[in-house]
Amino acid sequence: EAKSAGRNGLRFFNPSMQAAVSARAALEADLREALQTEQFFLELQPQVDAAGTAVGAEALLRWRHPERGLVSPGEFIPVAEATGMILPLGDWVLRQACAQLAAWSRDPAMVGLVLSINVSVRQFRHPDFVSRVLDVLEDSGADPRRLEMELTESQLVDNVEEMIGIMMRLRARGVRFSLDDFGTGYSSLSYLKRLPLNQLKIDQSFVRDLLVDSNDEAIVRTVVALGESLDLRVIAEGVEREAQRDKLLALGCRYFQGYLYGRPGPAGALSRCVAREA
Ligand code: C2E
Ligand code: MG
Ligand code: MG
Ligand code: MG
Repeated sequence: EAKSAGRNGLRFFNPSMQAAVSARAALEADLREALQTEQFFLELQPQVDAAGTAVGAEALLRWRHPERGLVSPGEFIPVAEATGMILPLGDWVLRQACAQLAAWSRDPAMVGLVLSINVSVRQFRHPDFVSRVLDVLEDSGADPRRLEMELTESQLVDNVEEMIGIMMRLRARGVRFSLDDFGTGYSSLSYLKRLPLNQLKIDQSFVRDLLVDSNDEAIVRTVVALGESLDLRVIAEGVEREAQRDKLLALGCRYFQGYLYGRPGPAGALSRCVAREA
């Protein structure tokens, strides 16, 4: 295979590998152009408490390419990460999110909501990241306590000390942290308690089969207990059905995100949904 050949200093490309390489190069080129021509936008998905009241939202990046149509983040984020494009792209997300928060701060119905953004480790570890975030917060007038950063477990595993240092500097200004896709990585309990986190986010893979898979039930129970002992909020993602929500509630989970409460959509849809609740 390519891997073992690579180890011997040789590489063989078959036609399908060649096609994959050029498809990726084309995607990379399109990605570069997309930032200049404003093909990106954010969708917001509500996060609710046990009563079903919105307490915040997650900002999810969308790319609408003129010919490709909507390209899923699962496809373009890894390319953006590999090419370094995630730096300008992540910065764009940060600016959009802070502008949104500033707008909410002038709207009594929205002022209490927290807005979460997904941050890639490459962006997070950039030497200018902290000062950049503080600048954008200040320029926008957004309240740092309403900004939350979602980091994935697997991204925190390497360079834990460095990651903790960066988190502490932002946390000192009030920025919140949530550990995304929790349960799919390799967190060790000893460093989990040292991370300045506010929230654990149960990965949607454990919610999907919760009603039929007793292993998933055990995992949810464990994460909830972990959250309690570390004094962290626990939110479940990918909640699509009432029965899943009821089960999660019974297991002690108090915050939810998923199609049951709302699909990712424009900011206006979230405002209307919050207004209906009030
Ligand atoms: P994630 O942060 O774990 O986001 C949750 C994903 O689950 C989103 O997929 C969301 O649309 C989807 N989802 C929400 N509710 C449900 C549900 O009830 N059922 C199901 N089946 N899915 C649900 P999406 O938008 O395709 O994003 C995929 C991933 O791309 C995200 O996973 C995140 O890792 C990454 N991503 C998205 N936006 C950004 C961004 O601005 N920056 C970075 N670095 N990564 C991003
Ligand atoms: Mg997320
Ligand atoms: Mg997730
Ligand atoms: Mg994910």
